[in-house]
Amino acid sequence: MPVSVTIDEIRAAHARIAGHVVRTPLRHAPSLLQDNLPVHLKLETRQTTGSFKLRGATNAVLSLDISAQKRVPGVVTASTGNHGCAVAHAAKARAIQAVVCMSQLVPGNKVEAVRSLGAEVRIVGRSQDDAQEEVNRLVAEEGLAEIPPFDHPAVIAGQGTIGLEIIEDLPEVELVLVPLSGGGLAGGIAAAVKALRPQARVIGISMTRGAAMHASLLAGEPVQVEELPTLADSLGGGIGLANRHSFALCRAFLDEVILLTEEEVASGIRHAFAAEDEIVEGAAGVGIAALLAGKVRPSGPTAIVVSGRNIDPGLHRRIVEEGVAA
Ligand SMILES: *Cc1c(COP(=O)(O)O)cnc(C)c1O
Repeated sequence: MPVSVTIDEIRAAHARIAGHVVRTPLRHAPSLLQDNLPVHLKLETRQTTGSFKLRGATNAVLSLDISAQKRVPGVVTASTGNHGCAVAHAAKARAIQAVVCMSQLVPGNKVEAVRSLGAEVRIVGRSQDDAQEEVNRLVAEEGLAEIPPFDHPAVIAGQGTIGLEIIEDLPEVELVLVPLSGGGLAGGIAAAVKALRPQARVIGISMTRGAAMHASLLAGEPVQVEELPTLADSLGGGIGLANRHSFALCRAFLDEVILLTEEEVASGIRHAFAAEDEIVEGAAGVGIAALLAGKVRPSGPTAIVVSGRNIDPGLHRRIVEEGVAA
């Protein structure tokens, strides 16, 4: 399958979302200096809604054709986490309706987080599949536009804007470390970086517990893996057996995928807080953790994508104070 997101689309996304999302800082991280090579943190923890997901959701919402003739009555997604919040925020900013479908099993704090951003929450069934069926119905019967969390060209182009900004701020970058789940983030960033600085390595990082993209890249096609609880909860879930975009991008552009144990994920959260004064969620600390674990060796200036800060405060406290892994 041809690779479907180009550097021109990522540039267009950057212009489109400017002023709607935060242009986050790339900050030098003295505690991570490796063999005298500087390491920088791309702090999507400072993004509105607390994660980079707002970039892709905003680009997708702003790309909708809402001319008078083809008016989209609203947007819909089944994501309960950072993407659900991002879609809610992006839709509200454009004054269109957002519906987020969730199963009865989703915890109340997640329901409230999405609702407080102005989205309508529709509780259906007892699984993520039931919630997705309701999304499909709303698309077919009510004409809502689905904004999926990663496998969508406008979403991937939006996440890829992080790669553009890294190259703008650190043109000599040699290594980019990116959290990896469905691959919208890593695929978009790698597409941008490889277009602008082909010699830079881009490495995706997942947890060993349920690394669907890693297993799929090994198999040469999207495969299902068992979903397991992990401290990097935003990296959970599959890539979709009918994946159309993010798998091909990751296959084309990622140099390597690294897997981390739960103890290593915890060490990333802990180091970010203790040594760099940053509160990060498990998924966002994996780049730091991979360096600390010695699982990747920088060959030059390095940028680590720190993807979000939405972690339960009690869990964060336990990890940084007591050294609890899982
Ligand atoms: C969604 C998410 C990721 C992974 O992004 P994909 O595009 O699914 O690979 C990483 N970190 C955080 C904080 C996220 O919310």
